[in-house]
Amino acid sequence: LGGTISRALQQMSNATIIDEKVLNECLNEISRALLQSDVQFKLVRDMQTNIKKIVNLDDLAAGHNKRKIIQQAIFNELCKMLDPGKPSFTPKKGKSCVVMFVGLQGSGKTTTCTKYAYYHQKKGWKPALVCADTFRAGAFDQLKQNATKAKIPFYGSYMESDPVKIAVEGVERFKKENCDLIIVDTSGRHKQEAALFEEMRQVSEATKPDLVIFVMDSSIGQAAFDQAQAFKQSVAVGAVIVTKMDGHAKGGGALSAVAATKSPVIFIGTGEHMDEFEVFDVKPFVSRLLGMGDWSGFMDKIQEVVPMDQQPELLQKLSEGNFTLRIMYEQFQNILKMGPIGQVFSMLPGFSAELMPKGHEKESQAKIKRYMTMMDSMTNEELDSSNPKLMNDSRIMRIARGSGRAVREVMEMLEEYKRLAKIWSKMKGLKIPKKGEMSAL
Ligand code: GDP
Ligand code: MG
Repeated sequence: LGGTISRALQQMSNATIIDEKVLNECLNEISRALLQSDVQFKLVRDMQTNIKKIVNLDDLAAGHNKRKIIQQAIFNELCKMLDPGKPSFTPKKGKSCVVMFVGLQGSGKTTTCTKYAYYHQKKGWKPALVCADTFRAGAFDQLKQNATKAKIPFYGSYMESDPVKIAVEGVERFKKENCDLIIVDTSGRHKQEAALFEEMRQVSEATKPDLVIFVMDSSIGQAAFDQAQAFKQSVAVGAVIVTKMDGHAKGGGALSAVAATKSPVIFIGTGEHMDEFEVFDVKPFVSRLLGMGDWSGFMDKIQEVVPMDQQPELLQKLSEGNFTLRIMYEQFQNILKMGPIGQVFSMLPGFSAELMPKGHEKESQAKIKRYMTMMDSMTNEELDSSNPKLMNDSRIMRIARGSGRAVREVMEMLEEYKRLAKIWSKMKGLKIPKKGEMSAL
């Protein structure tokens, strides 16, 4: 035993000389990035303490790329901090689930309610929206406009001032109509006020939601923890949605919201439009927090699995940023083959979570094949154009006829193309690393 201890001590002191300096430097550097990304000071400190416990100084002493080892450990630690340990309640189709949205005014509740409804509607659900915001003038009009645009049934009132009454009436009505998902939008205030929390408590008690979602603006900075905690104390928050991730904020407040509510982030909002809404994917989110860019993991993966001779062409296409239908076709081919490039693409946030959800690989493959059949009926001009206006009604009809699919399906395929083009365009101007540069950190 004595031997073990003295050996351990010796290793420790060796490590102190050799690598504690690197570790500290690296931790400080990354902590600065995290604070700039609005991660709460306390969480950054906790992370530092944990990393010091976890990182094996022996590995550091022996490892060639110390920074890489430390960064990987921090990456994993942050992923863990975003995982509250249990999944959130997931509504089931056919169960008339009630989902209540809470958050301060301007956080994006009303917008996100519609996005959430639309997301489920696209999957064949029958959602409905209830406007229980009687505080802000124009709140009902806003919800009504959104709902009408998406053809989603809604309920609200210009006259009634009692949010509890409206919420209950709306929920009852849509339960009778057997809606799959009943979404209750609530009011907010500019500040965290007692009256707001009391109102949330009453609406929640009266409507008995299956899930309460806390909506947080990614740019609120260090205020996130207090805000999330205040809502959690009045209602049973079970999930978090972070909005405005298309802006400059990196969304470090999400870590605080998870810590304060012990609930996972389930979606992020990436724009004002209905379809600018993504299933939350922890790894790209953490990359962004660390200032590694959304694509650093992706670049590593390219280097790891794509044969050397194919890398330049792929990277060239990526850096040009023009995602044509032909490129989509080629990437679909790669994915179906599940060759190296297919593996890379299947780990892209938009490709994996939406196009090929886990556990639905068979359906996803069938869908991709269907899309490719339709693309087989396209002209070269259509395949090589990056002008979205080119695809007019008559072209869409011709493609539908030519491929024996419904017009609706062609439109769905083009929507998918637009979504992927948006992901792809984020890589425009990407610096193409020279040989050997990619793994250097
Ligand atoms: P509420 O007061 O919480 O209901 O917030 P709203 O839904 O009315 O949204 C406030 C503002 O934020 C509106 O101008 C929305 O268009 C905008 N907004 C909401 N979500 C997003 C997002 O993900 N990205 C961007 N850029 N704007 C958003
Ligand atoms: Mg609102």
